[in-house]
Amino acid sequence: MSANQDQVPQKSYDLRLLKRLLRYVLPYRGYILKAFVCLIVFTFIDLFASVYLYKVVIDEFIVNKKAEGLTVLSIIYLILLVAGFFFQYIEFYLVNVMSQKAMFDLRLDLFRHLERMSLSFFNKRPVGSLLTRLSSDIEALDSMFSNCIVFTFNDILIILGLLGIMLWMSPFLTLIALVVLPVIGLTSFIFQRNVRASYRDVRKYISQMNSFLQENISGMETVQVFNREEQNYQQFTKLSKAHTQANLRSVINFAFFVPTVEFMGSLAAALLLWFGGLRILAAPEVGASAMTFGTLVAFIQATQKFFSPIRDLADKFNILQTAMAASERVFGVLDTDESIPEAETQPVQPLQGRIEFHNVWFAYKEEEWILRDVSFSIEPGQRIAFVGATGAGKSTIINLLFRFYDVQRGAIFIDGVNIKQYPLKELRSRMGLVLQDVYLFSGDIAGNIGLGRPDISETAIQQAAQAVQIDHFIESLPNGYHTEVKERGATFSVGQRQLLSFARALVIDPKILLLDEATSSVDTETEHLVQEAMDRLMVGRTCLIIAHRLSTIRKVDEILVLHKGCIAERGSHEELIKQRGLYHKLYQLQYKDQYVEEAVR
Ligand code: ATP
Ligand code: MG
Repeated sequence: MSANQDQVPQKSYDLRLLKRLLRYVLPYRGYILKAFVCLIVFTFIDLFASVYLYKVVIDEFIVNKKAEGLTVLSIIYLILLVAGFFFQYIEFYLVNVMSQKAMFDLRLDLFRHLERMSLSFFNKRPVGSLLTRLSSDIEALDSMFSNCIVFTFNDILIILGLLGIMLWMSPFLTLIALVVLPVIGLTSFIFQRNVRASYRDVRKYISQMNSFLQENISGMETVQVFNREEQNYQQFTKLSKAHTQANLRSVINFAFFVPTVEFMGSLAAALLLWFGGLRILAAPEVGASAMTFGTLVAFIQATQKFFSPIRDLADKFNILQTAMAASERVFGVLDTDESIPEAETQPVQPLQGRIEFHNVWFAYKEEEWILRDVSFSIEPGQRIAFVGATGAGKSTIINLLFRFYDVQRGAIFIDGVNIKQYPLKELRSRMGLVLQDVYLFSGDIAGNIGLGRPDISETAIQQAAQAVQIDHFIESLPNGYHTEVKERGATFSVGQRQLLSFARALVIDPKILLLDEATSSVDTETEHLVQEAMDRLMVGRTCLIIAHRLSTIRKVDEILVLHKGCIAERGSHEELIKQRGLYHKLYQLQYKDQYVEEAVR
């Protein structure tokens, strides 16, 4: 599990990150602007209605025992409340639409970026951590956009507006109300410092849990076969516990902070009642002093309003912290460019199908050479088979031809053109590939053969299926070609999956066919089917076959034996057998039974 990419930054905000995030919001500035207008109107209405009107109602009407006009004023108050509701509703809606749209764009950017990455990128990262980037990290950003940006402005506006009104009503009471502010400031400071640390841990554990779950759910079969349930349960318990504890640490901070602010608010109200009350009482008769009842009530009302944004700050801070961490990681992925460099696009002729490896050296990791100075060429229409012990580097050759990775030294040519000169898409779409492990996607069977390419017709799909003789099987299924493929084709047999992948390779009618034969053995009947399908598949194409089955090897033009990354032997089956070298040994080891059979024949 790689910890480094799940690290959380130390700072709670980062201008550089914010600027970059704003780039996603900018296209939707119209929404923000409208939201701001609504917000300003709402704040104004709110302050006017629930602070100023209070004062007026009490001082002008209640204290003076004036009944007429009170009804009208109450109705005005009600209308204002409804209008406020309306503006707040629109503001909320606009902000969330903006946020959703921005995150939609970011999510797509991220996905597109991932699609471009070389496989070496994915080798280094647990799937779970990438899933976290695309799901909960983006969600955290959404939460920041929808809760923080506009609403923080809202809070500031309210605080400033209230301060203004309060100072206008009574500078003396304002001073008293704000006496508690330093205490709140200190509490917030301590709170923020503590929450940041625990929060960092929470994110780390979430990502680790995701990685762990992803691995274990995907590998459940193996987990059960090897009775690893209990051990994995313990491991998960450990992670889960760490996560819970980190969460609890932040909850404790919240539990302390929120009531503190609440308490300070009440304390301020008490102080106001006390000092304000004394002031009113000091006057010879009601209403004669500088302090009125209405002022005092409006003040208490204002103070309560004043503290609620401060209390919310804790939440906002938490959201901001989450979002900064999330954006750091999301951008971290976006900034990692491990894509295969694309050539300047040049017109691509239809392929002839000539493959050449020129002194190719390749290592997945620094200097651990998997291929050492490999050279060979395959003429159009020729069939070449690679054999070799497991781990010899056979599949690696295919990985390089498809440019899943780039060679470190030497070069690969197709039709005399370095494969780096082909646009990636062109290169890959012109070669048929049957991988060692067949991957089926969710969707239907036709979709899995045509892979959703619009230029491949339903008829072409059916013809391909017929050619590899999987058509009977497909037609026997309840929905034929439109039968859903469950979880990576778990309901198909290995042989059926193999044939489906043949059909998939055949349907694009490639000039070059690369076959990485699966090692798993199938029954003789299926083997026969697969063999026949392969024969049909190979007609008229340049074929590079990584062979595990004897029958495949017999029909090729040349066999290359890969040993420790070098081509150790080459020749026809008969020649190599005569040499009594590596191939002979492999042959005896792997195909002993057939060998014996043949010898007997
Ligand atoms: P098999 O017959 O078992 O399929 P192979 O000849 O196809 O074996 P390769 O898959 O080409 O073997 O692997 C060659 C070597 O490269 C192996 O030692 C393997 O450990 C290493 N290797 C393969 N893929 C990677 C990877 N993604 N990252 C690092 N090393 C890898
Ligand atoms: Mg392999």
